[in-house]
Amino acid sequence: MDFDVAIAGGGPNGLMVASELALAGVRPVVLEKLTEPTGEQRANGMVGQVVQLFQRRGLYGRLTGEDSPPVPVPQYMFAAFPLPLRELAGNPVYTVLVPQRKIEAVLAARAVELGVEIRRGHAVTGFTQKDDSVVVSIDGSADIEARYLVGADGGKSLVRKAAGIGFPGFTNDRTVSRTAHVTVPSSWRDPATGGLAVPGYGVIPPFLHHRHERGLIAFAPFPDGRTLLSVNTFDLPEGAEPFDLADLRAAFAHVVGVEIPIGPPTGDGPHLLRRLSGGQTRLAEHYRAGRVFLVGDAAHVHSAIGGPGLNLGLQDSVNLAWKLAAAVQGWAPAGLLDTYEAERRPAGERVTMQTQAQQLLVGPGPQVTAMRTLFGELLQEPAVLRRIAELIAGSDIRYGTGPLAGGFVPDLGDLTHSGRPLLVDNTGSLAPVAAPWRDRVEVVTAPVPGATALLVRPDCYVAWGSSSDTPDRDSLRAALARWFG
Ligand SMILES: Cc1cc2nc3c(=O)[nH]c(=O)nc-3n(C[C@H](O)[C@H](O)[C@H](O)COP(=O)(O)OP(=O)(O)OC[C@H]3O[C@@H](n4cnc5c(N)ncnc54)[C@H](O)[C@@H]3O)c2cc1C
Repeated sequence: MDFDVAIAGGGPNGLMVASELALAGVRPVVLEKLTEPTGEQRANGMVGQVVQLFQRRGLYGRLTGEDSPPVPVPQYMFAAFPLPLRELAGNPVYTVLVPQRKIEAVLAARAVELGVEIRRGHAVTGFTQKDDSVVVSIDGSADIEARYLVGADGGKSLVRKAAGIGFPGFTNDRTVSRTAHVTVPSSWRDPATGGLAVPGYGVIPPFLHHRHERGLIAFAPFPDGRTLLSVNTFDLPEGAEPFDLADLRAAFAHVVGVEIPIGPPTGDGPHLLRRLSGGQTRLAEHYRAGRVFLVGDAAHVHSAIGGPGLNLGLQDSVNLAWKLAAAVQGWAPAGLLDTYEAERRPAGERVTMQTQAQQLLVGPGPQVTAMRTLFGELLQEPAVLRRIAELIAGSDIRYGTGPLAGGFVPDLGDLTHSGRPLLVDNTGSLAPVAAPWRDRVEVVTAPVPGATALLVRPDCYVAWGSSSDTPDRDSLRAALARWFG
């Protein structure tokens, strides 16, 4: 066996799977077809529990360059409705505004620190599954044999296709999105909000989608001085090739009826000038075929509205990695690897559902406007606001049931950096119960609101919990056996 796990694709998800495997003590290899990172601009940041996941692993400060921990965001958006999240007790929505290339650089640096081998210029061209391994073919290089193969090779995943896994879904061909870094005259900036003051039209607030019956505008003046303008139109054909600021100006005028005097961006690049037509929403029929697993965009593609992609994919990656490590190390209980699809495909279903619902709610025409009036009224209800906030955060995804089990673990300080299973025991009585698992479950103490003991999986989800001073030992033993063999 050349490696424990081969990973096709060195994007954010492949790098995350690799780091988590290395953290767990197994040997992955990342096979990335590109010789250099593309520099393509995708995510402007991350939203949801993934932000806390970075913090739990001690990686959040590397993204922000600051020591302070993440705090919930006071306002976010859903389908171009501003969400007053500051009103929610226990607001679950966290964000971090850093470009995807920085996120990838942080993940790549961590993978290398952990000893991961990243082979660039290695395109996976196919694989053959054997009883206890997968032989992976690589363009221009010798085959490699590994116990498992992870397809983290993006939306057009070769691994998914070669595994024969279907990718059913929906194609939207009515929208054209145009995005560019621009400069905007100061007379067009609204001093109160920092938004766009459009003469004769009104203010388009910053960092929120603004829906009109003919299109959707987003205006984002980033703190680093760069300003992004995005215009999505419905049923308006693409302009001439190549896309330029004149086309963006025309699309803006089509939506709001006013010519905008934008100019080219100044300062350091790279600068974005992109036009995309339509979009796909697809979910893999299965996340596993034998020894082959899919994570990230290889398993799901959807509209980028609201930015849920990395929250979804990176949590796939962390969910899968510890289970694969357990299988490689020989202690995985029966069925553990199958819990990956059972837990993460429903998360993919939630995201493909909510991004399609948002697309519909920002769509054209008076019927959508009527629907928005009703949806806006519903959002005044605190329970509805909470439901939407949890959908955005991904905190509505729970693995298992019980008042204390199934959710994301509270902050335990440095204890979650290692990615080891933890038994937080503040009763001082549970170490003997966990003794048979002592080679893989660490018994620790840490303040946890509302609980005396928690069993924590490596992906930072709670597998068992108690608020009693004398926790039920049998249910703890059952949870230890269920998750840790
Ligand atoms: C315009 C846009 C804006 C977005 N904005 C956000 C946002 O704000 N927030 C957010 O969370 N998400 C956002 N996303 C989504 C996010 O970018 C993706 O979810 C994320 O890049 C998926 O990561 P991945 O590692 O699964 O796939 P990718 O990033 O696609 O990486 C796959 C890697 O596999 C490599 N590869 C492909 N085929 C092979 C092969 N055969 N062999 C070896 N290597 C291979 C590729 O070269 C690539 O490096 C946005 C996406 C787009 C397009």
